[in-house]
Amino acid sequence: MLFNQQRTPFDLRFRLGPFPVTVNPLFWLGMALLGQSAFQAGFEIGLLWIACGFISILWHELGHAVTMRHYGSPARIELFAFGGLAIPAYQQPSAVRRLLIAAAGPLAGFLLLGLVWGSDQLIAWADQNPYLGVLYTFLFLINLIWSLFNLLPIWPLDGSHILREGLVLGRERQPDLRTQQVSLGVAGFLGVVGLIVNFGPPDLRRQIFTEWPSWFRWVIPGVMMTIFLFLFAYQSYEMMKQLRRPRIYDEDRLPWERR
Ligand SMILES: [Zn+2]
Repeated sequence: MLFNQQRTPFDLRFRLGPFPVTVNPLFWLGMALLGQSAFQAGFEIGLLWIACGFISILWHELGHAVTMRHYGSPARIELFAFGGLAIPAYQQPSAVRRLLIAAAGPLAGFLLLGLVWGSDQLIAWADQNPYLGVLYTFLFLINLIWSLFNLLPIWPLDGSHILREGLVLGRERQPDLRTQQVSLGVAGFLGVVGLIVNFGPPDLRRQIFTEWPSWFRWVIPGVMMTIFLFLFAYQSYEMMKQLRRPRIYDEDRLPWERR
């Protein structure tokens, strides 16, 4: 798949309550790459960005892990370049539970966003000094964007798991194939948007960044995200091919037909 989950001597390992956590060294590199503009504003601002990304992504995975444990399965957390995973010891047999586990990550993100915003409304801590202001902005933006991004129905993001379990509950006969079709469509569409905006006519780019509402800047995929979207689309395409293939197991063949 996309992510490197191999053990390295540089892994950071610790326990967060009942959950073992492993942080791959590429996680820090990925966060630094995503925070290039923060580092341009100052080295300590860059480090603050990495700290906020670490807290937010760990918190997101903790949302999944706590829900898995609530439904009786131990879980561990892994952070690696550009993301993380909460891995249960057992898969849940119920689609409702699997749906709630998938939704718990983005929900945890929105909860942290609410805590950051709400506490500042109460005691105005973000105005106390410039670093706290930066901390507020980073925590707010990372949790908002990471939660919304993860809700996209693109495999393997949380949104695609929510979609798959929703299809199972709606008695769709091929939930896996439908999920990959939606994933291919959404990732492909957003990838093409990213391609046009980043590499298309310079006039269009200028127009978007000066005339369109400023929140478009956060929605339009950058160069790195565009590459990721095409990787996601390709992955879904490959999975669709596998799911379409008629399943003939070796045990179903006559002995001389077996490979
Ligand atoms: Zn998640």
